[in-house]
Amino acid sequence: MPHCTTLLHAKNILTQDSERNLLEEASLAIHNGKIVAIGPRQELAPVWQAQEERDLGNVLVLPGLINAHTHAAMTLLRGYADDLPLLAWLEQKIFPREAQLTAEIVELFSLLGFAEMLATGTTACLDMYLFQKAVFAAAKRAGIRLSAGEGVFAFPSASCANWQEALAITEDLAQSTSAESRLEVMVSPHSVYTTSPELLTACLSLAQKRNLPLHLHLSESPQEVAQCQQSHGLSPIAYCAERGLLTQPAALAHVVAVSDDDLKCLTEANAVTVLHCPGSNMKLASGAARIPEMHSLGIPIALGTDGAASNNQLNMFLEMNRAALLHKLVAKNPEVLPAGTVFDMATLGGAKALQHHDLGSLEVGKWADLTALDLSAPNLLPCYAPISHLVYAATGHEVVLTMVEGEILYDHGTFTRFDYEALCQEIRQITDALQRKAL
Ligand SMILES: [Zn+2]
Repeated sequence: MPHCTTLLHAKNILTQDSERNLLEEASLAIHNGKIVAIGPRQELAPVWQAQEERDLGNVLVLPGLINAHTHAAMTLLRGYADDLPLLAWLEQKIFPREAQLTAEIVELFSLLGFAEMLATGTTACLDMYLFQKAVFAAAKRAGIRLSAGEGVFAFPSASCANWQEALAITEDLAQSTSAESRLEVMVSPHSVYTTSPELLTACLSLAQKRNLPLHLHLSESPQEVAQCQQSHGLSPIAYCAERGLLTQPAALAHVVAVSDDDLKCLTEANAVTVLHCPGSNMKLASGAARIPEMHSLGIPIALGTDGAASNNQLNMFLEMNRAALLHKLVAKNPEVLPAGTVFDMATLGGAKALQHHDLGSLEVGKWADLTALDLSAPNLLPCYAPISHLVYAATGHEVVLTMVEGEILYDHGTFTRFDYEALCQEIRQITDALQRKAL
């Protein structure tokens, strides 16, 4: 009789394999964090001997969602400043508050962001921010899968006096996390407009030396493109291509304002993924990315929430819904980006962005990163097509269980690795203190 650590049973399992198989009355066997069997309950239950067996009941189990672009610690700024033009928002509100950041604040608010993600079915995220060691510490506390790197800027940040220091932190992290299967490092120059040619070259060298992917904001708005044209005579994408950045695996956030030549450049790039953030693009009025065209050109696309200051939620169900609706409206065509395509972006697309090919679907040999939705929620009844519900009906609040590498991290409202009540208290104390300082 084969042994496994955990044997899960569920009413439905959406495998997200190449045939999009939906299994009914199904089971999933997990051993040492990986899926070792998946199939009908009546076949698996008599065969597998499990240390722990759990019947999840009337739920839909699906691969954990992957939030491919976020700044988890920006939960600190959720609802702090809304409905402002980008420059006023940044200069009068966001930057002064970010100047007060400390490692302790970043760790606590990252943990809050990870809590929100786990509670809404996200098992992995791609983050970029300041005090990144604190972000990794928070990810270890929460148990979530994290790819991230210290944001690299041409000017001093709250955490680094210069860009050399930011790259040193990134390299340290690459060393210290190399044995951790849930933690990966990406070299993260913030964007073209906040960096310099010399800095970008140094980022590329580090990425090549350590075999790390790059993660940067690119072509987020027409203003950014105009500025780049003026400074360098090229679009941000052409500029990155010219500097060799697109020869390295790279995750490119936003990619909203692009020309036909830019799209051609992306199709010719080595291993890039576009990180589409529809909520943030709509809230900051950056524009609508040309996602349906990119998709038809075969450019890999993942979905992200961006930070809570420009969203204001870190909920991938909401993001899937926004992606599907926004592009139908823009194209004036309801057939654009069907639910299955959007769900692919939130799972397999995210796995590509993270350069993590053993994520994104529930298949033998992949990590058991998954979530389960309560199918008895009123907004999920009746259920003709689960993929439709994931994109158009679910809110994320139907999530009852989230697991990474076979470890339950969120179970019916409870976080298993940390004391959520204590976190809430600390969050309140810090926000009260910051507000008092601001008065
Ligand atoms: Zn961002």
